[in-house]
Amino acid sequence: MKEHRARKRFGQNFLQDKAVIQDIVRAVRPQFEDTVIEIGPGLAAITEPLAASVKQLHVIEIDRDIVARLRHLPFASKLVIHEGDVLQFDFNSIAGRKKIVGNLPYNISTPLLFRFGEYVDDIIDMHFMLQKEVVERMVAATGTNDYGRLSIMLQYFFDMECLIDVPPESFKPAPKVDSAVVRMIPQKGRIGIARDFAHFAALVKQAFQQRRKTIHNNLKDWADDAVMIEVGIDPGDRPERIAPEMYVTLSNHLLDVAASA
Ligand code: SAM
Repeated sequence: MKEHRARKRFGQNFLQDKAVIQDIVRAVRPQFEDTVIEIGPGLAAITEPLAASVKQLHVIEIDRDIVARLRHLPFASKLVIHEGDVLQFDFNSIAGRKKIVGNLPYNISTPLLFRFGEYVDDIIDMHFMLQKEVVERMVAATGTNDYGRLSIMLQYFFDMECLIDVPPESFKPAPKVDSAVVRMIPQKGRIGIARDFAHFAALVKQAFQQRRKTIHNNLKDWADDAVMIEVGIDPGDRPERIAPEMYVTLSNHLLDVAASA
């Protein structure tokens, strides 16, 4: 088969580094009967060792040429190929609790990560290769420069851990940025339960509208200072100084205040 030319628009940076591939598969620990889904199998660097450990492997791939290649792989009979855009993919269409894996196309990683909350109850764990800078934002602690909306919205659903740092030379073509592998394990409830998730999400978005401004400023159309003080938030603080659970508490409290008005 002709050599595949990497397509930039699909974020194609193919993993070459055998040690990293092995480390990823070891971290995923696929068991024979597990329902494993790989996003963006590409030229099958991770797909092949994953497929060797499970009965069946689901793969989601947008690039038609790559899909054609996947169909000709010696282990193709083990693959269930879903051709299309992962951003449109309904993960509920695959039954059972899932392990999800992927060296993700960096251009769609943030919108994709935001979608997984929807499926949290059916996820065992997820392992993703991402831009290192994104992983740092995901796992960031309150008060750090990397802490923000992405940290809060993902920490609401998942425990996350950065497992492996991966340099550009591990890929072909080499990306311009460093990468890292993150593990995400569902932990819903760890920082409280938002009674109205959409309200909580909108509140967090609004709180970080202008990072450099105080929470009083960012939330002036949402919450009186008195309400913030009631739940233990200093209105003079910047949004990055407020812990994820405080946003959950504030959202629930605002709903109570609105209901009793
Ligand atoms: N897994 C391979 C590896 O590690 O070498 C390829 C990783 S490459 C960074 C990203 C893969 O995701 C490519 O195969 C690309 O075609 C696919 N992809 C890009 N955008 C996608 C999308 N929206 N939906 C599904 N697959 C996508």
